Amino acid sequence: MLKKGNKLYSILTGACPKCHQESMYVKKNPYLLSETLKMHERCSHCKTKYKIEPSFFYGSMYVSYGVGIVFAFAAFIISYGVFESSRNTAFISIVLTMIISLPIILRLSRNIWINMFMSYDKKLLESIKN
Ligand SMILES: [Zn+2]
Repeated sequence: MLKKGNKLYSILTGACPKCHQESMYVKKNPYLLSETLKMHERCSHCKTKYKIEPSFFYGSMYVSYGVGIVFAFAAFIISYGVFESSRNTAFISIVLTMIISLPIILRLSRNIWINMFMSYDKKLLESIKN
């Protein structure tokens, strides 16, 4: 289902949005907190510059708001809906989910943000091979 060439692939794996050949991030694990947002400057395959303009990724903050709501809502549904916990417990589970999944939310937002401006480019990949 999740194949290279699909936007979702780049969003979920953090792969280069143009060629999907390698990760944009220096460290694959988002929970190495000092390295969570460290990115390569360019893709070593297709030379795409990730930071299109200075402070490009500030825009991903708008995305992270939406992604955060999705995570919070999922936590609420699971604790309140599935486990039938009290409202206070549901609230605590939302807060914990937000804290624990923060590195994932940050990266997902960046991936979604950059994929709004760049798309997979099959021709680019073929031109590199030749
Ligand atoms: Zn690339």
